[in-house]
Amino acid sequence: MSGHRPFLEVSGITVRFGGLVAVNNLSFEVQRGSIHALIGPNGAGKSTTFNCISRYYQPTEGRIVVDGEDVTHHAPTRMAGMGIARTFQNLELFGELSVYENVLLGCHSHSANTLGRLLRRPSGEIRDLVDSLIERVGLMHDRDTRAKELDFGHQKLLEIARALALKPRLLLLDEPAAGLRNRDIENLDRLLTELSEKDGITVLLVEHVMQLVMSISDRITVMSFGQKIAEGTPKEISENPTVIEAYLGK
Ligand code: ADP
Ligand code: MG
Repeated sequence: MSGHRPFLEVSGITVRFGGLVAVNNLSFEVQRGSIHALIGPNGAGKSTTFNCISRYYQPTEGRIVVDGEDVTHHAPTRMAGMGIARTFQNLELFGELSVYENVLLGCHSHSANTLGRLLRRPSGEIRDLVDSLIERVGLMHDRDTRAKELDFGHQKLLEIARALALKPRLLLLDEPAAGLRNRDIENLDRLLTELSEKDGITVLLVEHVMQLVMSISDRITVMSFGQKIAEGTPKEISENPTVIEAYLGK
C-alpha cells in the first residue's frame, strides 16, 4: 500500500485498567516518513498508546493499522517482522553485555542465526551494520563498554541503535531525550531528522523536551487524561491556548 495512505492509523482506541480509562477514544494518523510527536502531562496515556501500537497492550476498543494492515490483534512478536521497532521509557538493555553485543542482538529478527550463534559468529555484513549503527548514534568510543556502565543518556542512544538494527520502517521512541545533555540532544535531533528525511523511516515519539519536539516534528498530537486535546504543526501547537493551559504553560 502506498499513495497518500498514512503509514500508521490509530482509530478510536480505548484502554481500560480496571476502572481507569488510560486512553479514551484516541485517533490520530502518522504520515509515511514523517516525525510525529505525542506530548502531554504525565499520566496522559502516551506510553499506554505506544504499548498498544507495539502490541504489548490490547486496546478494549478501536483499531490500529500499519501500512494498510490491521495489526490490532497481532501478537507482539509479529511486529518486528513488520518493521516496527521501539524503545522504552524505562530502558530495557542487557546491562552485562557490551554496546556492540546489545546492538548485535537487535539484528536477530533478520538474521538466520540462533541468538547464541549470532553473538559468537556474526556475519561480516551484520558486523558492519552493527558498527555503522554504533557510529551513527555516536557511541563508537564506548563500543566495548558494558551497557550498565554507560550513563543514562548514552544508554538511551544505545537503545535507539538497537532498535535501528531491526531495520525498522516505523520507530517508536518513548522519551528518547530524557536525561540527555544539550549536546546529546542536538545529536539526537540530527539523527532523527536524518532517519526520517534520508532513510524514510516513520518516527513516532513521546517526548517532554520541547526544544527537540518543536524542532524535529512534522506534526504533534497532544493528549491529556487519555484524550486528544489538540493536533497540528509545532507552530500551531505552541500557540494553542488549550495546550498552553493543559501542558505547556506549566
Ligand atoms: P504517560 O506515558 O502519558 O505518562 P501512561 O500511559 O504511562 O501515561 O499512563 C496512563 C494512565 O494509565 C496512568 O494513570 C497510569 O497510572 C495508568 N497505567 C498505565 N499502565 C498501567 C497498568 N499496566 N496498570 C494499571 N494502570 C496503568
Ligand atoms: Mg510515559
